Amino acid sequence: MQDVFSIAIDGPSGAGKSSVARAVAEKLGAMYLDTGAMYRAVGLYMLKAGVPLDNPDAIAENCRRADVRVGYGKDGQQCVYLGEEDVSEAIRAAEVSLAASSVSTVPAVRARMVALQREIAQGHSVVMDGRDIGTKVLPNATLKVFLTASAEVRARRRYDELSCKGMHEPYEKVLEELIRRDEVDTHREASPLRKAEDAVEVDCSQMTLEEVVETVVSLARQAVEGKA
Ligand code: C5P
Repeated sequence: MQDVFSIAIDGPSGAGKSSVARAVAEKLGAMYLDTGAMYRAVGLYMLKAGVPLDNPDAIAENCRRADVRVGYGKDGQQCVYLGEEDVSEAIRAAEVSLAASSVSTVPAVRARMVALQREIAQGHSVVMDGRDIGTKVLPNATLKVFLTASAEVRARRRYDELSCKGMHEPYEKVLEELIRRDEVDTHREASPLRKAEDAVEVDCSQMTLEEVVETVVSLARQAVEGKA
């Protein structure tokens, strides 16, 4: 494979981007960056600081104080910190998902996160997943994938994931929140979720995780060879 390459995986919530991106990064020996975790950390910071999530000015003002850091554990797993505190688990709570969606509409938050993401990726082969990786963070990515699945399939997967963790939310509520987040992500003014013109769309509604990973790895090899 080419010395340094970058793979952007974008798509709506619950399409399985992080599982796919993590596995693809491992197979290709690249670094994995879950950018959603960073917006979640900013959301958690605002919740903890009592910043009203319907006040973009207050969010913009406070985001300078949110000291978001990314590290990697011994097992290579990405950890997210707010200052010294490891918040990798706390950012997965349902209220943090909604907070992340709100803070990510604020341009000042996006500017900080995009700069940080580029800084982390600098000089490494990387697989990044998010909403604006192909359109904004890595416009020259070696490969751009837009990963989709129907809202019902995504909600079912999220529901199963939460149930496995002992978090029992009704399926209808999970579906409703997912549709609400889709709405916010696709209609916000700042970097809305959309497929980059040169992205390959992969609809994984009927695919297993392994099949999606194989598809992306094979697309990545072709893209890297094509650009070598
Ligand atoms: O991917 P995940 O669901 O963890 O992302 C949490 C939230 O962060 C999303 O709902 C989205 O609003 C926001 N996000 C974003 N841009 C990214 C990654 C995530 O706006 N690159």
